[in-house]
Amino acid sequence: MDRIRMNPIVEMDGDEMTRVLWQMIKDELILPFVELNTEYYDLSLRHRDDTDDMVTVDAAEATKRLKVAVKCATITPNAQRQKEYDLKKLWKSPNATIRAALDGTVFRAPIMTSRVKPYVRTWKAPITIARHAFGDVYKACEYKVPGKGRAELVFTGKDGEIFTGLINNFDGPGVLQGQFNRDDSIEAFARSCFEYALSLKQDLWFSAKDTISKQYDGTFKQVFQKIYEEEYQARFKTLGIEYFYTLIDDAVARAIRSKGGFVWALKNYDGDVMSDMVSTAFGSLAMMTSVLVSPHGYFEYEAAHGTVTRHYYKYLKGEQTSTNPVATIFAWTGALNKRGEMDGNAELCAFAKRLEKACLDTIEAGEMTGDLAALAEGEDIRKLTSAEFIAAIRSRLE
Ligand code: NAP
Ligand code: MG
Repeated sequence: MDRIRMNPIVEMDGDEMTRVLWQMIKDELILPFVELNTEYYDLSLRHRDDTDDMVTVDAAEATKRLKVAVKCATITPNAQRQKEYDLKKLWKSPNATIRAALDGTVFRAPIMTSRVKPYVRTWKAPITIARHAFGDVYKACEYKVPGKGRAELVFTGKDGEIFTGLINNFDGPGVLQGQFNRDDSIEAFARSCFEYALSLKQDLWFSAKDTISKQYDGTFKQVFQKIYEEEYQARFKTLGIEYFYTLIDDAVARAIRSKGGFVWALKNYDGDVMSDMVSTAFGSLAMMTSVLVSPHGYFEYEAAHGTVTRHYYKYLKGEQTSTNPVATIFAWTGALNKRGEMDGNAELCAFAKRLEKACLDTIEAGEMTGDLAALAEGEDIRKLTSAEFIAAIRSRLE
């Protein structure tokens, strides 16, 4: 059989159980069908340590060049991992390094099957959460006010102009917090959201609280509106999709009543809270995809979950595990499909769709890993090991 040819993408290998799945997915589900062309970077913790983490920087730079990357889950080291791996230092999270280099926004969406029903019964299509991952309460200055006193907001400009605003005259103890964000970060966030909604051909919602926070949230709203009108409105109209802003409380009520199938952009804190709410309501962490989209049009695909350490230790003892590879498979199909779209390689796009369908058909037929078997509906559920599940997908694909 002729294998499908492709232009290169960046491949970032990772750690533990997901590294094991990574190789199985390539060997069983991709290499037999595609003349896989990747620039390979080994982001396993050991190799990051050996290269003083330069491999992560190189992988991010390669992503700027090739525009599409697929990443395996990686360990973010803590003190215990430093000991376990005898690390030179506590390296930064690879995702943080890559995000900083690509200036991106993370989009998360659930993979749906009829076997695992969302808790919200009207939801028929995935809701994608786009969380602004910079600033606000995550970079705030806080103070525990000890007693009577006056709190002011002071800004001193480069040319000496000074703004002073009264926050509160305290009669007794209390708390105080100063938050900020930057226009360039909000603009990059907005562009990533518009780009992503275009690539999914779905509506984009943005919600905040500008009725109360007229300057702060008002700036977010204005930035989105301006960029939409100047750069994206025409393309949205052509595709028949829309962008709108609505208050966060209204958006929450509308999201619950909706059928799903839209991108929901949220400020940092709102996105943190809503992404956990939405992913839990859809079912399982092992079925969440994640993609980093940069405003310059670079795409990095991965699974939302981690390296599944508990399963890896069982694997090391020689046990067969039932770890769910679906989100990692969808990271691959996302990247292959995007490569195909960018190059007009219809065969590659069609392969990505076929592999996704083979995964979903396998689950629909009642064959799945343990995490899903515990949630799924039906009398005919069979819990498979990862290897058996991947073999079942392979036979459908063939
Ligand atoms: P995790 O790897 O996502 O696993 C947490 C638990 O969720 C697992 O123990 C397992 O539950 C379940 N689970 C997650 N993915 C699954 C899958 N594919 N199939 C079946 N069950 C799955 O999170 P963690 O244990 O907190 O973190 C482990 C390592 O991953 C850490 O070193 C962390 O730094 C790293 N991490 C990396 C990323 C990333 O690279 N993007 C993200 C998060 C965490 P049961 O054990 O109950 O079966
Ligand atoms: Mg959270």
